[in-house]
Amino acid sequence: MDADFPVRVSCAEHVERELDDYVDQYEAAPDTYPIKDVEDPELNKSCMVCGAEGSVVLLRVKGM
Ligand SMILES: [Zn+2]
Repeated sequence: MDADFPVRVSCAEHVERELDDYVDQYEAAPDTYPIKDVEDPELNKSCMVCGAEGSVVLLRVKGM
């Protein structure tokens, strides 16, 4: 999966906050995917806010 914007990972608790941050920082609304659907061995699957196990991946793919 190629993302032209950064990929963020969030637990269920922080997903709305991450969505808001994403829009603020990158001026783009990301799509959200269940973390189990994202097969990227390089991805750190911990919430970037609290470090808990991530449940949602936020990313935006250009042209979609
Ligand atoms: Zn969290």
